[in-house]
Amino acid sequence: MTAPSEQSNLQCPTCAGQRRFDPPTQRLSCDSCGNGETIEHCASINPAQETPYNPGQPSDDPQSTVAVAVHRCETCGGGVTFVGAALSERCAYCNGPVVLEPQDTEFATMALIPFQIDQDDTVPNVARWVSGRLAAPSDLADAVAKGKTAALYAPFFTLDSSEAISYWGSYRVKRGKRTVVKQTSGNFTVFFDDLLVPASPHITPLIRDGVIHDFNPGNLKPYDPAYLAGFGAERHHMTVAEGMEANRDDKAVLIRNRIQQHSHRHLSNIRFTTDSSHIRYRRILLPVYILHYAYKGKAYKIVSCGLRGTTYGERPFSRVKLFLYSLAISAAALALGIAYGAAGLP
Ligand SMILES: [Zn+2]
Ligand SMILES: [Zn+2]
Repeated sequence: MTAPSEQSNLQCPTCAGQRRFDPPTQRLSCDSCGNGETIEHCASINPAQETPYNPGQPSDDPQSTVAVAVHRCETCGGGVTFVGAALSERCAYCNGPVVLEPQDTEFATMALIPFQIDQDDTVPNVARWVSGRLAAPSDLADAVAKGKTAALYAPFFTLDSSEAISYWGSYRVKRGKRTVVKQTSGNFTVFFDDLLVPASPHITPLIRDGVIHDFNPGNLKPYDPAYLAGFGAERHHMTVAEGMEANRDDKAVLIRNRIQQHSHRHLSNIRFTTDSSHIRYRRILLPVYILHYAYKGKAYKIVSCGLRGTTYGERPFSRVKLFLYSLAISAAALALGIAYGAAGLP
């Protein structure tokens, strides 16, 4: 469900069958005859290339919108496009039903890292994650095994910026037997390189965390729809300004850490201002597998990053096991208490 030129390139030149991107070989592979083809890049496209952004001119890359058909989720509003044959009636993000919208616009994707692992490769990672959960119901693995996995390219920004930071804070010093609170302030500049920022409200921390763990900007390739063949993708809809706004809290955490380092003290009541300049960005796609499963009628997700397979998930707890754990902990505390008590006896 994409531009006709994109679709026709995905036809097998030998048998006219449907081709898909095959992660283990990193090639386009034909479903019918098995013919494989390396994906060639135009030498003029450099995936390391970033686009400057000026907050004074908020209309970012307006010319690059392209029309695509999108499958819109009726539950969460997420929109996914499919290149090639991988149509799905369910939303990759929430497993809700989707309806086809004939036209949508998007910002052009500049680069991506294609799926590095197959869906089958996620099975041991998911199993390891499930077996590592404490106080999980005994039949959790069975429920997860009945789940359905969606493969999705999710939209992210990489953002560079130079931050001129001014800060104020307080710290405590010992003066004899007294503790005195002192004020301090400072200025410094820090450069953030390739901060990874979700470019969709549907990218929850669960989806983001594995991706951030596995991401290496050196592995970016120029965008080519051939890498999407057989997979779903959420395209870029957020403006750069919206992406930076969505990233504000995460960036503040990073800046506060840098302020602590800069002051060489343990500061509290930190206030700061920052002046961002030299902002550069890329619109990229990164691959995730999202497994949807249900336990006792409630929906859960387990997300494996499609790069190196880092896996995080949501899970139910066993009330019985939680109760037994709490008993065991109290018993241990009691035993420890008795031991200390006994040691104190004359
Ligand atoms: Zn073929
Ligand atoms: Zn949805």
